[in-house]
Amino acid sequence: MQIADAVQILDRAFPLGMQQAYDACGFQCGRTSRELLGIMVGLDVNEAMIDEAEQRGCNLLVTHHPLLFHPLHRLGEGTRVERLVHLLLEKGLCAYAAHTNLDAMPTGVNGVVADAWGLVNRQALEPLKAPLRQLVVYVPLAHAEFVRSALFEAGAGVLGNYGEASFGVQGTGTFIPLEGANPVLGSMNQRETVEEIRMEVVLESWKVQRVVEAMKRAHPYEEVAYQLISLEQSAPSFGLGVVGDLPQTMQAQDFLALVGKTLGCPLRHSNLVANSTISPRNIGRIAYCGGAGADLWPKAKSAGAQAFITSEIKHHHFLDAGDEMLLIEAGHAETEIPAIKRIQAIIQPFFSTFAVLQTNSLQNPAQYFSLRNENYGS
Ligand SMILES: [Zn+2]
Repeated sequence: MQIADAVQILDRAFPLGMQQAYDACGFQCGRTSRELLGIMVGLDVNEAMIDEAEQRGCNLLVTHHPLLFHPLHRLGEGTRVERLVHLLLEKGLCAYAAHTNLDAMPTGVNGVVADAWGLVNRQALEPLKAPLRQLVVYVPLAHAEFVRSALFEAGAGVLGNYGEASFGVQGTGTFIPLEGANPVLGSMNQRETVEEIRMEVVLESWKVQRVVEAMKRAHPYEEVAYQLISLEQSAPSFGLGVVGDLPQTMQAQDFLALVGKTLGCPLRHSNLVANSTISPRNIGRIAYCGGAGADLWPKAKSAGAQAFITSEIKHHHFLDAGDEMLLIEAGHAETEIPAIKRIQAIIQPFFSTFAVLQTNSLQNPAQYFSLRNENYGS
């Protein structure tokens, strides 16, 4: 398998259509005509990870953060990114990123922590804007089930927790095969009348190409009549952050302990004493956004969350939201490191004959220093 083939598989596992407009998900750099040797997953491409990949026989690095995020106008040696790109290319490695598309997947960055806490009634904190399409296709009655199954197999017809959702109404279609046509039904230059089903399914925008191709393969007609319509609705499970209910309510202190244990880092949080709205300070509904999601706190509040966990919370967030909810800040890397294992789990089934390894290199560029732990001042 060439790396280019692996990139195609990854694009399907992490649909690029789910990424935010500012992002740079997908293939990053390297020669994709090379044979794939193995895949290594991590949070960020760094020098240690590149060395490790080379030693452990991996030539495709899949990370959450894109190495090439800001456009490069020159490729010298002046910046960390430039030096890392050189190093990757010199060692014959390729880089690939699953960033805000992984954030938007219900099974992604936020899903992995939501799973750890057993959250139920989950929804995205900020659903992707209008990602839904409606596909309408006219199918002769005898082929309806075959085409419908092909649409479902390609991923159409998912509505929340329901699959294989479709609608069909029977009617009469007409056509005249004209010069150059090669019709399955009817005779040249004569009007043909066929009993057809108008079949309707919804699908997410990133599935359009795959579903339309599957529909055309399954459809008997030479010219398939179909429409693709943009819908105003969003798919509530796809988007940034997650909000849901804990299996049982917890005291704020106990919840803080759970968050610290799951993410494995010290936490900053809003003042529990000043917080008058959490009474009797039980936490039942919570919101989580891996990475820097502090600006989403109003969404967490309107979704009814009593606690919101994210990273890079600023002073003004604590001032504005501290009275509204229990605001909890963990380190940026710590909120996303659990997703490394999830990336591996998502892609391993596609590469059963190749190793998909997690990096052992240090993936957190920030460290903690505590006066108390060092016994300073004693
Ligand atoms: Zn991040």
